Amino acid sequence: MTLNELTQVFDTVNFGLVVLDREIKIQYWNRWMAMHSGLPSDQIIGEPLFDFFPHLSTPGFNKNCKSVLSFGNFAFFSQKLHRFLFPFKPDSSFGYRFDLMQQSCTMGPLRSDDNSISGLFLIVQDVTELATYEQKLVEMNTKDALTGIYNRRYLESRLQEEFERHRRHSHPLSLIMIDIDFFKKVNDNYGHQCGDVVLQAVAEKTAAVIRKTDFVARYGGEEFCCLLPETAVDAAEIIAENIRTHIEQIENIFEGNCIKVTISLGISGLAAEDSPETLLKRADDALYQAKHSGRNRFIRL
Ligand code: GH3
Ligand code: MG
Ligand code: MG
Repeated sequence: MTLNELTQVFDTVNFGLVVLDREIKIQYWNRWMAMHSGLPSDQIIGEPLFDFFPHLSTPGFNKNCKSVLSFGNFAFFSQKLHRFLFPFKPDSSFGYRFDLMQQSCTMGPLRSDDNSISGLFLIVQDVTELATYEQKLVEMNTKDALTGIYNRRYLESRLQEEFERHRRHSHPLSLIMIDIDFFKKVNDNYGHQCGDVVLQAVAEKTAAVIRKTDFVARYGGEEFCCLLPETAVDAAEIIAENIRTHIEQIENIFEGNCIKVTISLGISGLAAEDSPETLLKRADDALYQAKHSGRNRFIRL
């Protein structure tokens, strides 16, 4: 097979192929690279790679080049760690979830006939589609479809983690259980669709009111749960009251009607003898008391 014949193959493949000499000057740039970079090979061959892609000239990338050229090993640039090496536009069919094409890249040595390393090659694979599916899968597993906030499964795993961390360091941790008051009436009077809109508004407002380090999840139908790391119950009371007042002020407009709701809240703080389950149970008991002592209030246990 001639080099010309091989080049025909390399110009047809669905991945990027770059060959660099020992000075990191471009020796080969296949059609895929030309197409995605907008730089034709006759413009770029013989030129230093870093002249066109200065962002690649990092200590990490240089170290990898040196190592491949010295020892003949392979280096991998995973999408998870690096996102991409070359800033190319992604294919629009992936819905623009990523601003730039996600890449998985491999660098390896090129050996001459005498077995000395004359340069290196880079293979660039577009993994945007895979990364998109992976991200969607993670979202589906951790987020609630209606409200967009975290779901109960994710809350429970985070609660377990935070519980262990806080107990180990004897740091405070609080939990707030929230339940919308007389929510059934909203559905009965205005329809299920209206109920959905109200649920979304309550989730959105709660997420906006809590701090960045706090965490809210949809726990059940019209129940939400806030996890407050590094927060003692006194501070949790202030946060709970803040959530309560913000929710009662929301004016949900649906088909010309203005629907307002209130919430009841139960607060519990991590105690020495607690497990994640008892912490949750106490917040739930507190919520039950808040309901039975008149609703639209918080109780702490
Ligand atoms: P309380 O003050 O005692 O909490 O009264 P409530 O009416 O809120 O309590 P109840 O548990 O009787 O009603 C909860 C309602 O929430 C019943 C259910 O139809 C509704 N619900 C649960 N999930 C959803 C949802 O995703 N969308 C809508 N629209 N309604 C939901
Ligand atoms: Mg309920
Ligand atoms: Mg309710």
